[in-house]
Amino acid sequence: MSADKPTAAYYLSLIAGVFVILAGLLIAVFGALVTVFVAGIGGLFGLLGVVWGILIIVFASRLNSDPSSHATSGAMIVVFSVLSWIGSLGGFFIGFLLGLIGGILAIVWNPSAPQPAQPQGLAGAQAGTKYCVSCGSQLAVGASFCPKCGAKQ
Ligand SMILES: [Zn+2]
Repeated sequence: MSADKPTAAYYLSLIAGVFVILAGLLIAVFGALVTVFVAGIGGLFGLLGVVWGILIIVFASRLNSDPSSHATSGAMIVVFSVLSWIGSLGGFFIGFLLGLIGGILAIVWNPSAPQPAQPQGLAGAQAGTKYCVSCGSQLAVGASFCPKCGAKQ
């Protein structure tokens, strides 16, 4: 599994957005039916939930296309998952939960870039090892002259 993209966070957030949209649509239909006598104003409530779901998917897509945005995209996914309680009942809780986990995973996501190798020069510079400044031969600790080439140290 490739770790150069926050894949788990992306899919969790994507599913969260779908749940929030579906819940919002159901609530919009149900709300419109229930409040039909007041011009179906309850439907608007559910449509608000649909908007949160779309925004969650927008930021999930941004997370996938631009992983470097993972902190802000993840934070937005968390925010809209919480807001999904307004109008979408948190995507029947499932959307909220998945969005929360996906968003937090996105925020803490860390690209597993290969660690740079330790510079080789440091390994030879251990205490107690000395090398001739002229020819590079290994010297006794505290030697003033190189036994091989005679250079002063
Ligand atoms: Zn030397």
